[in-house]
Amino acid sequence: MGERGREVVVVGGGPAGLAAAEVIASAGHRVTVVERMPSIGRKLMMAGRGGLNLTHSEAGDRFLARYGAAEAFLTPAIAAFTPTDLRDWARDLGEETFVGTSGRVFPCSFKASPLLRAWSRRLADLDVGFRTRTRWTGFAAGGVTVVGPAGEDRLPADAVVLALGGASWPRLGSDGTWTAILAAEGVEIVPLRPTNCGFTVAWSGVFRSRFAGEPLKRIAVRLAEWVSIGEAVITDDGLEGGAIYGLSAPLREAIAADGPTAVHVDLKPSMDAGEIVTALTKGRKGDSLTNRLRKAIGLPPVAIGLLREGAGKDLPSDPADLARLIKAVPIRVSAARPLERAISSAGGIARGEIGPNYGLKRLPGIFVAGEMIDWEAPTGGYLLQACFATGRAAGRGVVRHLAK
Ligand SMILES: Cc1cc2nc3c(=O)[nH]c(=O)nc-3n(C[C@H](O)[C@H](O)[C@H](O)COP(=O)(O)OP(=O)(O)OC[C@H]3O[C@@H](n4cnc5c(N)ncnc54)[C@H](O)[C@@H]3O)c2cc1C
Repeated sequence: MGERGREVVVVGGGPAGLAAAEVIASAGHRVTVVERMPSIGRKLMMAGRGGLNLTHSEAGDRFLARYGAAEAFLTPAIAAFTPTDLRDWARDLGEETFVGTSGRVFPCSFKASPLLRAWSRRLADLDVGFRTRTRWTGFAAGGVTVVGPAGEDRLPADAVVLALGGASWPRLGSDGTWTAILAAEGVEIVPLRPTNCGFTVAWSGVFRSRFAGEPLKRIAVRLAEWVSIGEAVITDDGLEGGAIYGLSAPLREAIAADGPTAVHVDLKPSMDAGEIVTALTKGRKGDSLTNRLRKAIGLPPVAIGLLREGAGKDLPSDPADLARLIKAVPIRVSAARPLERAISSAGGIARGEIGPNYGLKRLPGIFVAGEMIDWEAPTGGYLLQACFATGRAAGRGVVRHLAK
């Protein structure tokens, strides 16, 4: 360990910043967390409303593949703080975790507040200081500039961790305004874009008025070679939910390149087309088509409505044609919902700007972590896992830097 008690400023009190603060303070340095909101961890708390999907239990190589183009970049950080390490860390803070049926990992309390409270106590025990309601505004010689309740200030720092998040749900704190500050320093920023987001579909008035708010359960949505399985919810002007979030990246890029794009919804992934034909032809002779779809195939009214929406006219009477439609209802998607409403952001600090210790190559002593870096991943716990892991990697980078 190097010289003890150097000053470190961590900007951003989300999971990435707090993870960095824990590592740096544990190494004996004085850490101040600067947070623009009145309290830390607001997005983490919001994630807690959905049960707080901390990480995923799938095998290491499948897990890492979820990060797509950023897999190689993130692998060292996640190898050094694995999903198992994250679960052990939560247990140490008094939060046992469990693996849900989908393989997703949640705290047993199914919320974020006990974990965040215990974590805050641990950080306070490590003498981490918090400056809330304080916005980071840039760099000054030997430190950073901030604006807080008492006006402008300069905080001295021997090293700085930036963990300001992306730009989704800006009312929770991360508003992406940091992009201008870093771009002015010559750091390449890949534009922030929505991911894990809903998409716009121009539903017919009839379909919208009958089915907005209804879930389509256990469906598969396809776009070229990508398939996303889960649930989607019909909204007034499109689709939300896991099954569509899982296609965000390729669908967003396809729309950007070619304009409105069709996805194909498989309303019955558990049956192949042949089984559907058999079930349909076995149905009672006098039954209406709607009744046969409901009874023989188990399609709820919203799924039958989507079939009619996708057919654009009457449903095919030939069972083979109908089965093909059930397995691939074409839905024309025109745009991604805005970034403010997305679960997370794609884009951010270009990975090529970041050294192996998570330091910015152009700005020695400045380290970065979390969603503000250019990577994206589906929901399922992959987002928080990468935020914790990169936060800790940046923390170790600072400790090494200060030991020089
Ligand atoms: C509704 C919702 C549900 C989610 N559920 C899950 C889930 O179940 N599982 C999962 O893996 N992921 C989930 N996520 C995503 C996950 O919460 C984020 O990816 C994660 O919080 C990002 O962590 P971070 O530390 O990088 O950034 P953030 O958590 O966004 O923290 C950044 C912090 O920096 C502060 N800040 C920003 N600018 C400044 C500034 N200039 N000065 C000072 N402070 C500043 C912000 O106020 C914020 O507190 C969810 C997201 C949303 C919106």
